[in-house]
Parts: sequence; C-alpha cells; structure tokens
Amino acid sequence: MLNLILFGPPGCGKGTQAIKLAEEFQLLHISTGDLLRNEVKTETPLGVEAKKFMDKGEYVPDEVMIGMISNKIDEFAGKVKGIIFDGFPRTTPQAEALDKLLEFKNTSIKKVIALEVEEEEIVERILLRGKTSGRSDDNDEATIRKRFNIYQKETAPVAALYAAKDLFTSVKGIGEIDEIFELLKAEIEQLGA
Ligand code: AMP
Repeated sequence: MLNLILFGPPGCGKGTQAIKLAEEFQLLHISTGDLLRNEVKTETPLGVEAKKFMDKGEYVPDEVMIGMISNKIDEFAGKVKGIIFDGFPRTTPQAEALDKLLEFKNTSIKKVIALEVEEEEIVERILLRGKTSGRSDDNDEATIRKRFNIYQKETAPVAALYAAKDLFTSVKGIGEIDEIFELLKAEIEQLGA
C-alpha cells in the first residue's frame, strides 16, 4: 500500500492538497479533523467530548485519536491502494501507534511530506478561512497562535522519528495551490507510485 502522511502546521494547506493527492493517486484520504468535526456535528458522545478540546485549540487525547484511526485502518486496509493521513499523527505516541497498526496489516508508511509555512502566514490564512469555514477554532487569533504553539511543541518533534528512518521530506507550502501540488506529486512519483 502507498501510505503517506501529509505533515505541517494548521493552515499549511494539508487538507486541500490531501484531497487532490488522494484523487491523483487513488488513495483513501483520512483527515482526523474532518472525522472529529463529523462527530461534533452529529453530537455523538465522542464529539461532545472532543469539542471541548477543539474549541480551545487543544489536542484531543491520544487514546481517542488512536482508537479512531485504528477503526479506519481496520475498515479499509487491503481494500484501498493506500492511505493519505492528514492531521495524524500529531504526537509521538500517535506515530508509534500508527506504525504498529500498519505493521499488523503488513504495511507501513512510505513517505512523510511536510508543507512549510511560517507562523504569520498561518495566522493570516486561518483568520481568512474562519470567515467562511464556520469552524469555531478559526476565528480567534489567540486560539490560532495557541494551535501553532502546540504544533511546535507536540507535533514538530514527530518529524524526527520519520527522518531517522529516512522517510521525511518537506516542500515549500507557499505559492499557488497547483504549484505546490506539483511539488508534492513529484515527491510521491519518486517512490515509484
Ligand atoms: P485539523 O482540522 O486537522 O486542524 O484539526 C482540528 C482540531 O481537531 C485540532 O485542533 C485538534 O483539536 C483536533 N485534532 C485533529 N486531529 C488530531 C490529532 N491527530 N490529535 C489530537 N487532536 C486532533
């Protein structure tokens, strides 16, 4: 399976690019943010609990996220050509759990690609997105900066785990959507996809 992780801070364009890449390479797109927002919308017990964290710009606990991904992998492994993970893993325990879950299915992550965008651009983009996204975590500058800080502290170190296995690369996340898409596509094509 061609399993990929699209990595990078909130607002770096992961969601937009993941949708395009999933279509191009016929992969299953798993966005944990979308899965959570769906739970929130349908007011499931998990959604009600998760909303408290999401509204504050904090991470939903690892056990919840790992359980959610585990179910998805069980549902789809072997039935799809590969999976593109968007917004997961975000912590070291999540990355370790993902490796194990994929190993059980006799597969693994083939590449982690980060989109590089700096903080000021992120804040600007998310505030703009907040005007139309309806997301409760996209409107307040302090919450956006908090999300970025949590990303730096909790998520950025995950890159080193994959770099140690020679699976990590990054591309510039600033420019036209199609330009960035071409950069990502070239990275994936190098894998022989
Ligand atoms: P996103 O759409 O990826 O920006 O995610 C929106 C929010 O959902 C995040 O700010 C977190 O509160 C929560 N979330 C999404 N993915 C994860 C994850 N892998 N671990 C913890 N929380 C997550």
